[in-house]
Amino acid sequence: MSDALKAALLERARAAGFDDVRVAPAAAPEADRDRLLGWLAAGLHGEMDYMARWGAARADAATVLPGARSVLVFAANHYPLATPPLPPGGAEGSGGPILVAGPPPGHVAIAKYAVGEDYHVVLRERLAPVLGWLAEVLPNEKWRVCVDSAPLLERAFAVRAGIGFAAKNTMVISPRRGSYFFIACIATTALIEPDAPIEGTCGTCTRCLEACPTQAIIAPHVLDARRCISYQTIERRSEPGPDESVHLAGYAFGCDICQDVCPYNKFAVQAGMEEFRDGRVVRHHEPAATFAAIRSNREFARRFARSPLRRAGRRRLQRHAQSAVRGR
Ligand code: SF4
Ligand code: SF4
Repeated sequence: MSDALKAALLERARAAGFDDVRVAPAAAPEADRDRLLGWLAAGLHGEMDYMARWGAARADAATVLPGARSVLVFAANHYPLATPPLPPGGAEGSGGPILVAGPPPGHVAIAKYAVGEDYHVVLRERLAPVLGWLAEVLPNEKWRVCVDSAPLLERAFAVRAGIGFAAKNTMVISPRRGSYFFIACIATTALIEPDAPIEGTCGTCTRCLEACPTQAIIAPHVLDARRCISYQTIERRSEPGPDESVHLAGYAFGCDICQDVCPYNKFAVQAGMEEFRDGRVVRHHEPAATFAAIRSNREFARRFARSPLRRAGRRRLQRHAQSAVRGR
């Protein structure tokens, strides 16, 4: 793919609502495979068996598309709110406690990425015209769209492509855009000149490690998923034991705290894709009663048909909403 074609790709991506697109080689760096294997061997993935099932194969795009030689990595801002995350007097430059605005009484927090429509569906729909154009200009190549649904180490490819750098909170941070963006990939058999990784680092900052209410970031770049509120409210399938107390910090689904406190997010701007804006399906701070009022699985399925909240299921979401509102 020539530079002119790459420029045309960026133009198409932007027309489809994406903020950026860059290219990585089909194999993620060796260090990312090793980090993943070490993380799995330590059992830090908890009950996420699908992570262990694919292991290091996730670092090779040929796992999702035989013969893959490149990965196109797209970034899409999903920050839902009109104002940046930290309230006045938050952490900025104070050296004092890190204060993140919690939900008001009677309300629970929903992770910012989940207040709108399901990104798996939205990003696929938005990528469709880009994919159609690629198939036209390179008709002999194969393409496969991966939006967090195929065994692909998307964050490692995003870092390798230069979308952002690997941050201590395990997110990918763009020095210009922060970390509130989705990553979508297209694996392809086309051999495309990779883009260079970007310079960027957390430096001496440890704000996310200090602010995490469950100490789930056990070392820079290392998440013990079992302690993480996102895992507890979304991924975990087993019931908590009678003596187990799970602190949810006001969240009924997911958690944003380690991103909210990050200085790179202080200039977060509202998503251009309206599907991800606050209130599209629910609000970031939603009355707990919204969830308690849902009486049947059918009603739940209808209400959240196009929402990531569907994944938790009615009873789990209601249980977490109850715990979150009580724990405040
Ligand atoms: S998402 Fe929340 S619980 Fe998980 S690591 Fe970040 S701050 Fe901690
Ligand atoms: S809060 Fe600080 S350490 Fe954490 S991801 Fe942001 S810059 Fe890195």
